[in-house]
Amino acid sequence: AAGDIHAEVVVLGSGPGGYTAAFRAADLGKSVVLIEKDASLGGVCLNVGCIPSKAMLHAAKVITEAEEMGAHGITFAKPEINIDTLRDWKSSVVTKLTGGLAGLAKGRKVTVVNEYGSFTGPNMIEVQGEDAAKTVSFDQCIIAAGSEPVTLPFIPHDDPRVIDSTGALELADVPARMLVLGGGIIGLEMATVYDALGTDVTIVELMDQIIPGADKDIVKPLHNRIKGRYENILLKTKVTAVEALDDGLKVTFEDDKGQTSTDTFDKLLVAVGRRPNGAKVNAAAAGVAVDERGFIAVDNQQRTGVPHIFAIGDVVGQPMLAHKAVHEGKVAAEVCAGHKRFFDARVIPSVAYTDPEVAWVGLTEAQAKADGVKLGKGVFPWAASGRSLSLGRSEGITKLIFDKDTDRVIGAGIVGPNAGDLIAEVALAIEMGADAVDLGHTIHPHPTLSETVNFAAEMFEGTITDLI
Ligand code: FAD
Repeated sequence: AAGDIHAEVVVLGSGPGGYTAAFRAADLGKSVVLIEKDASLGGVCLNVGCIPSKAMLHAAKVITEAEEMGAHGITFAKPEINIDTLRDWKSSVVTKLTGGLAGLAKGRKVTVVNEYGSFTGPNMIEVQGEDAAKTVSFDQCIIAAGSEPVTLPFIPHDDPRVIDSTGALELADVPARMLVLGGGIIGLEMATVYDALGTDVTIVELMDQIIPGADKDIVKPLHNRIKGRYENILLKTKVTAVEALDDGLKVTFEDDKGQTSTDTFDKLLVAVGRRPNGAKVNAAAAGVAVDERGFIAVDNQQRTGVPHIFAIGDVVGQPMLAHKAVHEGKVAAEVCAGHKRFFDARVIPSVAYTDPEVAWVGLTEAQAKADGVKLGKGVFPWAASGRSLSLGRSEGITKLIFDKDTDRVIGAGIVGPNAGDLIAEVALAIEMGADAVDLGHTIHPHPTLSETVNFAAEMFEGTITDLI
């Protein structure tokens, strides 16, 4: 049956996965409808994720660097923070990008429907408008409904002092003491911002290290640096209760030995992960299977169990990262247009935009060991990098992991300022099947942090002569 609106391809959700898929499908000649419940396009990443967090991290970096220049002979006055102007600036960065997307959609004749969509059948989505429901029918559909923050049953989430990453990015105030529940990327990035703005930050993490996905040696320089700045970092500790009192949030902790303690905070940022929105779009009505966690399984062409329905981005699984969603969006759109395209990326880089940044790609050393890979590694300490020392920083490390049989690079972990930019070179090296000689013999510009990748390869080869 035809709906009130019909399109060859309907994309449900306009995050990085969704808008990429919609634009690509339109560029390939398809008629496209993009359904988005929120007023602006761009999803989590542009509105309440990657972009606003990076704008605030830039502000944090300026504050911290100004502070630290004091030790090198340049002293600035204590920063005066106008939180309203800072918030406006962050919002202006977001609206510039989301407005740009609206223009790009228009230019491609992609019809944007700003309503909540849910499936009513294998070729139909119902959107609930303000007055009446409308139907959108499709030949093919791409589900790009993303994810939302996980909530915990014992936490009073309706108390305004309990916030998630979206609340943290709203920058309502600068609390005196804040507890960040969860030592993952999102929690640590927000901690970086609030610490720079003047909040006393405590991190609590269940595992025995912050950023549990990365190798311990790569995370350690970050841990050591924030240990000196933050009030506390509690590892192997869980929060078992949160009580909303008039004078603060009383939090009960339990360590791995069963010892409990309590403390009271002005704000609690809950950053314990994100859950996919698969179940919320009523995919079952279209025959699409959604697992108990809300993920939608897909094949290597992003196809769900229903051949004309695809899914991409956070809703299909880990890692929940924008660049993965974008890549999958292109694959899905091209398959919709009849191209023979597959998701065959070897690696997906991960980055924590903390200070220092922590980045990794491919196999971590811990994974390689667990998999029984015969590995070799090249580790270059940034204390021997002239460029790093010129930045007043010496804690960084570049570690490359090689397959010992072939000398091919199979993974890397980098910690230090701009590690997120540096990791891209190793992602390319892994995709290209590069080996230690390829990386070691490529002339890198001096003096740059990128040389640390070159030097780490030479460390593995044993050909490094002088450290500069
Ligand atoms: P989303 O961006 O989640 O978009 C889904 C869209 O679908 C949303 O706009 C939603 O409103 C809409 N939608 C959902 N259901 C419906 C429905 N039924 N009807 C209509 N519309 C619907 N990733 C990085 O790679 N780098 C980073 O630096 C980074 N920083 C982050 C910082 C924070 C604070 C957070 C929270 C996340 C960050 N991420 C980052 C993760 C990144 O934001 C996500 O991986 C990415 O947004 C996923 O894209 P997506 O297209 O799958 O879905």
